[in-house]
Amino acid sequence: MQAAAASAPLLHVRTVWKKFGDRVTAAGVDLQVGNGEFFTMLGPSGSGKSTVLRMISGLEQPDGGRILINGEDVTDLPPWRRGLGMVFQQYANFPHMTVAQNIGYGLRRSNLDRAALRERVSELLDLVSLPGFEDKPVTKLSGGEQQRVAIARALAPRPRLLLLDEPLSALDEKIRREMQVQLKDIQRATGTAFVYVTHDQEEALTMSDRVAVLNWGYLVQVDAPQALFRQPRTKFVAQFF
Ligand code: ADP
Ligand code: MG
Repeated sequence: MQAAAASAPLLHVRTVWKKFGDRVTAAGVDLQVGNGEFFTMLGPSGSGKSTVLRMISGLEQPDGGRILINGEDVTDLPPWRRGLGMVFQQYANFPHMTVAQNIGYGLRRSNLDRAALRERVSELLDLVSLPGFEDKPVTKLSGGEQQRVAIARALAPRPRLLLLDEPLSALDEKIRREMQVQLKDIQRATGTAFVYVTHDQEEALTMSDRVAVLNWGYLVQVDAPQALFRQPRTKFVAQFF
């Protein structure tokens, strides 16, 4: 058991199926993500990206297949027992709280005393390039800044895996480009594995170690960006790029 866990990938989505009515949204999706990897799920709107991500997080139950984290079957565990962080398109901050209170919420299950908590919040604000933002009401921040607070909050308990569902889609072009670079830096600096969902080909190609292309609930290709671009395995992948 010990040996199996040591060699197991950080995340293993094993032949996962999901149907809504008679619409198949995940058709036997199989994928593995390693420690510290930037892994992207790319596909057009409605291809099943969010559904797969929600099954990894535990917000949705698969009809078939299993989710394993570090070799442990977490399929029946609730989201908060899976040791992962989540970031959504609409930065889900608490509007009545300050920046520090929002990030502190991510640390509510830690046993840090007040001083250690302050220290950790300040460290996280440095990480997301918002030093000194502790006492600002979160609603006074720009969209990009609010999303960085949400990212800091998700990373606060040091998850090994962070799930991000189109985190930059609500932002305008210029901010989005800046945040792409920042997110990549944050990912490298923390060594956190990212499972990143986007419908933006360019975003996937520039940020990822590997990209999984989804279409109608099917995983059509999983490859490094260059290989996807140069050796598309299906017509769909070729046309998508
Ligand atoms: P994507 O994130 O790639 O845009 P989704 O995973 O959100 O795709 O959705 C894939 C398909 O599953 C869509 O056709 C969507 O309408 C359907 N779907 C997703 N969630 C639900 C749900 N809770 N109830 C019914 N249908 C759903
Ligand atoms: Mg989606």
